[in-house]
Formats: sequence, structure tokens, C-alpha cells
Amino acid sequence: MKISANFDGGNIDVVEISCRTTKLNIRLDNASEFYQWFYFKIEMTDLSEQTFIIENAGQASFADGFETFQACLSYDGEHWTRTQTQYDGDKLTITVSPKSKTFWLASFEPYSWDRHENLRAELSANARVNHSVVGHSIEGQPIDLYQIGKSAPGKKTVWITARQHPGEVMAEWWSEGLLKRLLDPSSRELLDECTVYVVPNMNPDGSRRGNLRTNAAGVNLNRIWGVSDLKHSPEVHHVSAKMSETGADIVLDIHGEEMIPFCFLAGGHGAPAFTRRLADLHDQFLATYMQAHTSMQADHGYPIPDGDVDLTIQTYWSVETFGCPAFTLEMPFGRDDTNPDNPDGWTAQSAMELGAAALPAIQDLLKLL
Ligand SMILES: [Zn+2]
Repeated sequence: MKISANFDGGNIDVVEISCRTTKLNIRLDNASEFYQWFYFKIEMTDLSEQTFIIENAGQASFADGFETFQACLSYDGEHWTRTQTQYDGDKLTITVSPKSKTFWLASFEPYSWDRHENLRAELSANARVNHSVVGHSIEGQPIDLYQIGKSAPGKKTVWITARQHPGEVMAEWWSEGLLKRLLDPSSRELLDECTVYVVPNMNPDGSRRGNLRTNAAGVNLNRIWGVSDLKHSPEVHHVSAKMSETGADIVLDIHGEEMIPFCFLAGGHGAPAFTRRLADLHDQFLATYMQAHTSMQADHGYPIPDGDVDLTIQTYWSVETFGCPAFTLEMPFGRDDTNPDNPDGWTAQSAMELGAAALPAIQDLLKLL
């Protein structure tokens, strides 16, 4: 049997391969201690049942999240299902009865750079899209920015950033769903009212390297807003400069969350500039989003902080900089407990649908601004 992860987004180290059981470790982010994301290819010589044991799962960054997790399996790199996975508090055991000798295992359906480039080609051909490269990552990859709808006096500005944490691939699936729905005729009225800026991948270096949480310099990009620099965090430096140039009336930052098997929003609660009015707008947005998609919910999420928040987190930075409603949106890696009977849990398709469903909630919120 051969195991490889030397490809876009790949991550695994082989400890030991034996007849039926393979021992593995997830690699740490290239310049930090974070790890949890894995993605690797298996080439077997027969179709015998195989057990893959991830030996360092128990020390992973959000290890408790493995309790509601099932690994993703694909035979063609495109269609993914879940496969039997058990976590004993220390090791993660993935069992596969292969239907084909070659297959892939991953934490979630990967979002490749090829797909990113295909989407860029598709969007760039549309007259309503203005594509630009807002800057480059440390390793010289483009930070793609899409402006949908022309800016004009009186129009509001919506900013959406995704995948600051590169292992949270569902964030880029969400963005694709939103972008495609934005170009649907049904979104014309919305685009009369606002211009939407979208950065679907804030961290291309971390994405390519198979990192969980950091860029090539080991920086957690969602802990550097307002204090970024060109050397260590150019990704945030360029995007935050562009946001300051255009201003923002609504900001959404899209993530995945290992520990909580639900989709949820976290707002600017606790930031000094977070007013009662912003709290009301937050509640309105959440209520409309819940109507637009059954997986959005209000009962499970992060505890609401009562102050002393980290203003280098993008959502808080946005509240302080623009005084506008800002949201961190989180999606699960494994189970979606609003839909517990679905054997595939939260999927790329679910994330795309949730992205598309954000638009009516954005449209309703714009009316209140
Ligand atoms: Zn995140």
C-alpha cells in the first residue's frame, strides 16, 4: 500500500504501514503548533478492509471535536461520503472497506486551488463581476477579490471574507454558493441596493500547505486585524486596507468549527463600539437567516462575551472600524445536529446552500441600515 499527501492541501505523515492497519500522524502547521486537518491518498494492492489510526489525534488543536466527527472518503476526489470513524480520547480510528484500490480520506471535502481558479475564470467572464488581486500572500499567491455590482452613491457596501483558517474548507464552499447565487437573476434587486466584495480564500499558502489554522509564517490571520504587517501577514494587511478604502456596512467572516456540531453566528458583542442598535441588528439578521436555512440556529454557539474581547479578531475589528454589524459564521466539520439523521453530516453542498441562503438575510438587514 502507498500513502501520499504531497499535493494541494494534503496533510499526513506515515508512522507505519502494515498488512491491515496503518499508523499515521497529522502534520503540524508548517510554522506553528496547530493541527487537525488531514487529507491523503491511499493506493492499495487489493480490496481488503483497512484501518487507519491517527496516533496524535488526542493532542490535536480541537481534539474533543473528533467525538462528533466521521472522516470523509472519496474514490474519485470529487464525490465524498463519510466512513466509519471512532475516537477513544487519544487515537482516531478510520475503517474503510474499499470499493476501489485508490481512494482519499480527508477531514472535509477539500476545496482545491484548481476549483478556486475555475471559479475565478467563470466569475471573471461575467459582466457584473469585477475581479482583482488585492495583494499577494507571503509565498506569492494571489488574494482574489470579487466585487459584485458597481459601487454608486447611496449604495451600501457588504464585505465577505472566508477561509482565514485554511483547514476550514467549508468556508470556501460557502463562498462559492453565495457568489453563484449573487449572479442569479434573483439577486438583481439586492445588487441595486449594495455592492458585495468577496475574498473566498484569505489564506492560499496555508491552504496549499494543508495547514489547519495559520499562514506560511505561522500567523493566525484572525488574530492580527489592525496590527498586521506586510512581512508576516500581508493577506490581512492588503484586505483590511481595501476594506478601509471602500468602507463597510455589513461584514461577514466565514469559518468552520470543530467542536460544535451546529452552524451558528458570533457577533460583535463585547466590543466597545458594539451598541444596543448593533445587538438588535444582529438578532434581526440571525432571525432572517434561520428562516432562509434550517441549519442556521440560535441555541448552540460560543458564549456571548461581556467585554474584554480580542480586537484583532476580524469581526471585532470591523465593529470598531466601521461601527457596522459584523458576523463570524461557523459551520461544523462532521455531524450537523439540526439534521442528525443525515449520514453524511455537514457537506460541501450544505455549505454552498447556506452561503446562498445568506443573501435574503443580507437583503433584509440592508433595509434596516
Ligand atoms: Zn476559523
